[in-house]
Amino acid sequence: MNKILIVEDEPAIRDLIKIELEQKGYKCDVAKDGEVAADLIELQKYDLILLDIMLPKVDGYELLEFIKNEYEIPTILISAKSQTDEKIRGLNLGADDYISKPFEIGELIARVEAVLRRYNKGIDTQKIYDIEVNLVSRTVKKNGIEISLTPKEFDLFALLIQNKNFVLYRETIFEKVWGEDLEFETRTLDLHIQRLRKKLGLKDKIKTVYKIGYMLEV
Ligand code: CA
Repeated sequence: MNKILIVEDEPAIRDLIKIELEQKGYKCDVAKDGEVAADLIELQKYDLILLDIMLPKVDGYELLEFIKNEYEIPTILISAKSQTDEKIRGLNLGADDYISKPFEIGELIARVEAVLRRYNKGIDTQKIYDIEVNLVSRTVKKNGIEISLTPKEFDLFALLIQNKNFVLYRETIFEKVWGEDLEFETRTLDLHIQRLRKKLGLKDKIKTVYKIGYMLEV
């Protein structure tokens, strides 16, 4: 599930964006100024940031430099100004897109989806060995034959594929697949890993990393 930070000092706009994005299945945090936003960015992990330019305390441009230099998180600027030079300044600082107020919420969501696709967060299908995964239709094929995975098995495999050749901590995997609200259950996770290895024939490729977690080796 993609997590988005909305940085906007106008409560009405902030709430509207949050409600609409949550309806689309995104997880959202909000920040009312640049300082709160910087604190959240340090603590949480975001897939995308919607960033208003005119903000109290730390403005959007300053925050954008911080985001891009330190965290490389995809960022869409929101501005009350539609001047071209403002837009160019934002894009030069590394913004991934730019939208000016007033905007149609549908357009904002389309831009969010487009930026996430670009980062994937973006590639719809991935191939490893003889396995092809479609992250949009959530299907997995091995040698062209569809393999049936449960939703959690799919989420788990998608996470492993997106982090291939990186070791993932058990706790991190659990939080991403089962959610932060559930208590960490190593048995549940280990069982799903075993099922994946068996169903996909990846016994040696989904590695157990002693005392840490798992890694998909490609
Ligand atoms: Ca503002």
